[in-house]
Amino acid sequence: MRNGAERLLLRKEVDIMYLYNSATHKKEEFKTHTPNHVEMYTCGPTVYHFAHIGNLRSYIMEDVLEKYLRYAGYDVNRVMNITDVGHLTSDADEGEDKMLKGARREHKTVMEIAQFYTDAFFADCEKLNIKTPDVVQPATGLIPEFIQMVSGLLEKGYAYLAGGNVYFDTSKLSRYYVFNDHDEDDLAVGVREGVEEDTNKRNKNDFVLWFTKSKFEDQALKWDSPWGVGYPGWHIECSCISLKYNGEYLDLHCGGVDNAFPHHTNEIAQSESYLGHPWCPQWFHVAHLNTNDGKMSKSKGEFLTVSLLEEKGYDPLAYRYFCLQSHYRKALVFTWENLDNAVAAYQKLIARIAALKPEGEIDQAAFDQYKGKFMQVMGNDLNTSMGVTAVFDVLKAKTGDATKLALIGEFDQVLGLELLKKADEKRTELAAQQSTSTACGYTVTGEGDPAVDALVMQRYEAKKDRNFAEADRIRDELKAQGIEIVDTKDGASWRRV
Ligand code: AMP
Ligand code: ZN
Repeated sequence: MRNGAERLLLRKEVDIMYLYNSATHKKEEFKTHTPNHVEMYTCGPTVYHFAHIGNLRSYIMEDVLEKYLRYAGYDVNRVMNITDVGHLTSDADEGEDKMLKGARREHKTVMEIAQFYTDAFFADCEKLNIKTPDVVQPATGLIPEFIQMVSGLLEKGYAYLAGGNVYFDTSKLSRYYVFNDHDEDDLAVGVREGVEEDTNKRNKNDFVLWFTKSKFEDQALKWDSPWGVGYPGWHIECSCISLKYNGEYLDLHCGGVDNAFPHHTNEIAQSESYLGHPWCPQWFHVAHLNTNDGKMSKSKGEFLTVSLLEEKGYDPLAYRYFCLQSHYRKALVFTWENLDNAVAAYQKLIARIAALKPEGEIDQAAFDQYKGKFMQVMGNDLNTSMGVTAVFDVLKAKTGDATKLALIGEFDQVLGLELLKKADEKRTELAAQQSTSTACGYTVTGEGDPAVDALVMQRYEAKKDRNFAEADRIRDELKAQGIEIVDTKDGASWRRV
């Protein structure tokens, strides 16, 4: 048995992080149940349609958080569900099954559309450089475990049977609303315009754990259960999948802010009642991406997807850059103009990195100083816009290019903007565009613009004829266009600065 001091010595060093916790409404030091190890859970997509870029904002920010934690020295086990059953069109248990709606729209089976949109989701993630979680579990793959958990909740008296369905009894909890202190009436999600209230519920916010009776008789996916043939409610899948793959103590739970209530609230109710102890102390919620007319939606207005961005000629990573420029807890408005500004800034950043030369020694003191600054801003509630600014600060730093490139490579392990790769591509592109023209033994090399090559050549001829006024006029004209001329051994080369 090791004593405490020895155990401490065995621990790896991790950088301290401060993270806003929606469960306590405070920014707090990030702590884990097991030292240096994070059990992390993310609510995955409902695969009845393509993800819109609002959904993907949440996944980008969660990806940066995971990358930061790994970079700070933690081992991370990240688990995500795929909702392929049980999510109704209202987040309360009302309306139609989203999967069934999608299948009907496309004249396909539920499992066909689940597979198609799961693949589409991960293809989008790859384009946005979002890492696939360590465990990805579709809800339909774990039905026996859901049944076991629902049985456990019934045995412990936290659930009841009514009208053929099994419900969670929220009146059994001393504290149900974890994320907000709203009045119960404000959160009456069961009663929405055009949606019939479920009269089986004993309390307004009770929710379904297992359906056998529902308004839609044509439910495609059904399983045998002790309560009759049916299917699970939406919330039980996340509690159960996390319990199976993260264990009884989860460190960090993530999702978009709309998931806080009722979904995450219900997850906490189920998990803690079933386990009999506190479950997850830290909750990370990403604010929404909105359009000028409000919340982004898959059904109204332009359906903004990664494919649409690509069709319009945008690099998906420019969208990632756009998201990183804002703090994850602030709502972000998407407009094409805002995206264009992000594209210009991202391209400028890449061009500046491409101009660095990988030569010279690394200046360790400068490296440590700039890395420390980056860790400080990112460790302060994941301030990604300051993280991006830290890259620009490195470019302006009074240190050699090798140190700058090393730092940018490190920061990008967290930011995931593929900065070095893109800069290499830019260098190759510029080299391929290079033009060369030679006259009278004088060689002009440039970035592929014959008109500029010709002017540089005219400047040489003017100098040869001792017409210095004309030579200076041409140099000034080029300078005004942002072009710099450098004299070489057998002529001149020019570049845009
Ligand atoms: P869904 O596919 O509807 O289950 O949602 C997938 C994820 O996207 C969840 O974490 C949601 O909270 C999140 N989400 C939904 N709409 C938005 C939005 N407009 N902006 C950011 N995240 C969103
Ligand atoms: Zn969930």
